[in-house]
Amino acid sequence: MHKCNGRRIALHSFGCKLNQAEIESMALAFAAGGFEVVEPGDEADVHVVNTCTVTGEADRQLRQWLRSVRRRQPSSMLVAVGCAVERDAPHVQELADLVVTNAGKGDVVALVAERLEAGSASRPLPETAADGARIAGRNRAFVKIQEGCLAPCAYCIVPYVRRGETSAPLPEVVATARERIATGHRELVLTGTRPGVYRDGESRLSDVVRAVLDLPGLGRLRVSSLQPQELSPELLALWSDSRLCPHFHLSLQSGSGTVLRRMARGYTPVRFMEALADIRAAVPGAAVTTDIIVGFPGETDGEFAESVQFCERAGFSRIHVFPFSPRPGTRAAEMEGRLAVPVMKERVKAMLSLAQRSADAYVEVLRGRRVQALWEEETAPGSGEYLGTSENYLRLICSSNLPLRNVLEPVVVVCAEEEFVRVRRGDEDTGGCEAELEVTRR
Ligand code: SF4
Repeated sequence: MHKCNGRRIALHSFGCKLNQAEIESMALAFAAGGFEVVEPGDEADVHVVNTCTVTGEADRQLRQWLRSVRRRQPSSMLVAVGCAVERDAPHVQELADLVVTNAGKGDVVALVAERLEAGSASRPLPETAADGARIAGRNRAFVKIQEGCLAPCAYCIVPYVRRGETSAPLPEVVATARERIATGHRELVLTGTRPGVYRDGESRLSDVVRAVLDLPGLGRLRVSSLQPQELSPELLALWSDSRLCPHFHLSLQSGSGTVLRRMARGYTPVRFMEALADIRAAVPGAAVTTDIIVGFPGETDGEFAESVQFCERAGFSRIHVFPFSPRPGTRAAEMEGRLAVPVMKERVKAMLSLAQRSADAYVEVLRGRRVQALWEEETAPGSGEYLGTSENYLRLICSSNLPLRNVLEPVVVVCAEEEFVRVRRGDEDTGGCEAELEVTRR
């Protein structure tokens, strides 16, 4: 391994939780290789970005980001890795000094070190060598368990940029999880392109969940996303352990059966609704978040109305709305029936408004009830306002005179406040919720 004697490196991630998991592993690898890992906004000798190319908008944001870092820190070395490189290396290369494919990610430390040794970054070395301390003590860690997807979804570029399906060996996953707990992470998120298809010999996702729950010191555990066909009674039964977050991300994409067929999603609206019923029977009060693509080619007024009605009935706690964005090379990009821009805008607006109503309704039910907060950061140094996440994936905000970062604690839901949910900590004025706080203190 090359020794880089404290060269400052900043790591950035776009896109999914899998990318986040990978960037965290890269941070540890760079620290072990002698780099000083600094915060993403800091000045650095090297900026590494784990890229996303899932939509045209993701490509645009990456280009914008590379240009802006180049403008602000012209002598830094820019390294782009991952999906955008897989899809279109020549264009990414125009803006980055080094590009690394998904397959090359395991060698990224050596590749960067070699390039530095060849003298392409000119900043003088700092005096002190680095250690892993700067990347320890974070609150949430993403643990990659699987990569790649073989599903035939018509709109998706992922099967072309993360080819094949591979799963990390179970002992490796457990070792990573143990290490993240030891470095102070309170929440672990099991992540992958499709974690639900995890396979290591006879081991399945349920075995991974069980093994991680067995680790001493685990605060809480989340599974990043699943599909209806991947839920089994055996898997759902594991949620009887309260450290397993009652939050399921199930991407619906459309509530219309005919659109789902054209998308080749492999389930029907009826099957999806059955999966929701199974979740809610096994995990009462569970939050279910989803993604919806609006304006898939040929989506009629009737199909869009079906999608809206389905989402209204489903009671999602959060809906991520995406206008259809054709990715060259996918089947959907060749499909007829692209929507006119004003129609698309109108449908996106309608779906976003439903998403807001749906999220508000979920919070309303929780008002005065207890949730578990993991406090992540102060809004600004000294502000006394902390942001965090609940086990059911609400974005929380509270006031506190005490430092809260990385604290896991029960709190009481007060009300929705813009994109956050205001909560009250157990040591605050009860404001009429005495019974709840009594429970909280025990
Ligand atoms: S399941 Fe479909 S949408 Fe998800 S990564 Fe695989 S191909 Fe893409």
